[in-house]
Amino acid sequence: MTISFDPRAKADAMYKGAFQPMLIGGNWVPASSGQVMDAINPANGKLLAQLPRGQAKDVDAAVGAARKALEGPWSGFKPYERQALLLRIADLVEQNWETLCVSDTLDMGLPISRTLANKRRVVGMLRFYAGMATALHGEMIENSIPGEVVSFTRKEPIGVVGAIIPWNAPTASSIWKIAPAIATGCTIVLKPSEEASLTPLMIGKLMQEAGLPDGVVNIVTGTGAEAGARLSEHPGVDKIVFTGSTATGQAIARASVGNLKRVSLELGGKSPVIICADADLDRAVPVAAMAVYAHSGQICIAGSRLFVARGIHEEFVERLAEYAKNLRIGDGIDPETALGPLINARQAGKVEKFIASAHDEGATLITGGTRLTDNGLDSGNFIAPTVFGGVRDDMTIAREEIFGPVISAMPFDTIEEAVQRANNTPYGLAAGVFTLDLGMAHKLTSRLKAGSVWVNMYHAIDPAVPFGGMKMSGYGREGGREHLDEYLETKAIWIQTD
Ligand code: NAD
Repeated sequence: MTISFDPRAKADAMYKGAFQPMLIGGNWVPASSGQVMDAINPANGKLLAQLPRGQAKDVDAAVGAARKALEGPWSGFKPYERQALLLRIADLVEQNWETLCVSDTLDMGLPISRTLANKRRVVGMLRFYAGMATALHGEMIENSIPGEVVSFTRKEPIGVVGAIIPWNAPTASSIWKIAPAIATGCTIVLKPSEEASLTPLMIGKLMQEAGLPDGVVNIVTGTGAEAGARLSEHPGVDKIVFTGSTATGQAIARASVGNLKRVSLELGGKSPVIICADADLDRAVPVAAMAVYAHSGQICIAGSRLFVARGIHEEFVERLAEYAKNLRIGDGIDPETALGPLINARQAGKVEKFIASAHDEGATLITGGTRLTDNGLDSGNFIAPTVFGGVRDDMTIAREEIFGPVISAMPFDTIEEAVQRANNTPYGLAAGVFTLDLGMAHKLTSRLKAGSVWVNMYHAIDPAVPFGGMKMSGYGREGGREHLDEYLETKAIWIQTD
């Protein structure tokens, strides 16, 4: 994509180590304890800003503010007023898009060309939910004693929503949690990841500028173990919407039982991509590569298990490795960068351990497999895009979510075998299929156990299309009509008429 501004100049003028307060009840505040956390640029290890390290007391204040708003003036907002608010927020997000993207790239490393490319989806989310704000309705139901009793349903806001998000897509994740809350008349406490809270705070400022009433959206920065854990167990929270790892999702589900709060979970994955013998390789090679290498593998839908028809396996893997070698790796703020850093040294170390396990368990390294440290990559957070061949289904790299730029390539002999192996995972978030045979495409999309299946493409996510996981990739859906239902309760009403 062509970038018509200088991201480096914009980045240089941003943050400069300054303290960024959090948003509670319409006020920008430090943590009540005064404690702070550092926001670090993963591309160079430099301090970007300091943030409040919010803890239980701050979460309690935010939940209190959200409850007060829910039971106060916000409950009187008409659907068209919530719609107008969302449309104003959409306009401001669009006008400030470059600034938001530079902030995201600085805070979590995704190359600027990729953050910028998300505009249609993110601004589209706000406008989609603005539309939905005036389209909520229950239904009139014919019961078994018509004429005597009328019954119908109403859709009511679920109440105070606690939203906990990961670091890999702060702008999209924040908006995907907040917009449906505003559309349905809920209030929300957002806890961004401690690794990437800067852009969510910036979005909070834009929302206030758009006229957001105090307490409707609160943003508490802090760690998962402190702020996140308190939000998940909080008796004043009616619903938790969570995106993150499966292990954290399980902890949140356990913590939520105290008041049986509603929970939706968007969790991890180990997604398969199946390349059939008739696939258009010119299309399939780059898409299969970027199905993992986009964001250096740090995407929940990473298509990290690559099943290739045996007849084309050798050629495919060769072309894939060639593609990987030519990807430009570096600081994401450079418009030419295709692959940025991993989020921190801990994550890079984790990926190195997965690579070591692949060597130990007998996989064959085709390309990559090393941490890069030369030519400005000295933060220690860069790992070369990696392809392993000779991978067996029982190897660690074929079973566990790596969250790094590692593809496991595996040949298959029959479609039946490919489907069986693709589904042989506890996860069920996404899958990809490459074939020119329409019948085969239909057959595979219906048999793959995954919340999203893409054919001859990957990665597409749209505000109007439901997204979410099966099995241990979670429950609930974001996007589309179903998303609104996650924020609504259904009330049945009965009226005696005679
Ligand atoms: P993570 O689970 O470590 O953290 C996610 C969020 O949960 C953070 O805000 C963190 O502070 C918080 N948290 C951590 N421990 C907590 C606890 N005990 N109680 C409450 N909150 C807690 O995940 P991450 O490393 O930030 O992100 C990577 C993971 O997210 C991967 O597994 C990836 O697949 C998943 N993910 C899923 C989707 C999806 O839509 N399915 C999208 C993006 C990322």
